[in-house]
Amino acid sequence: MALDEIIVLRQKLHRQQLEGWKNHYRLEERKGHTWYKNRALIVVGDEGDKRALLEVYHDAPSAGHPGVAKTLQSLSHNYWWPEVKSFVQHYVKECAQCQAGKTKTHPNKPLVQPITPDPQA
Ligand SMILES: [Zn+2]
Repeated sequence: MALDEIIVLRQKLHRQQLEGWKNHYRLEERKGHTWYKNRALIVVGDEGDKRALLEVYHDAPSAGHPGVAKTLQSLSHNYWWPEVKSFVQHYVKECAQCQAGKTKTHPNKPLVQPITPDPQA
């Protein structure tokens, strides 16, 4: 998978960052200078890589827009980075397709009211 190659390349570029994380997060450097936490490959240095992974584990037709817990579970099998949970939570919350799907699958629920600023605030 090409994305893995990019991630490993990024690990080489951000080696110092990984050395800093090593003890705190219990990371391991394995053969070929590839960094893991347990069996998960460490993603470092680029927000775009994380988004690309979420596209695979959340947006792809094979993934089918699962919720936060399921997206996090399948992603964490193979990849890890600090704050991965909040990244996934934010990503799923902001997913336009999930938001559109919610109103369709729950037609009896009232639509969320837009938040209007309190004039007395
Ligand atoms: Zn979604």
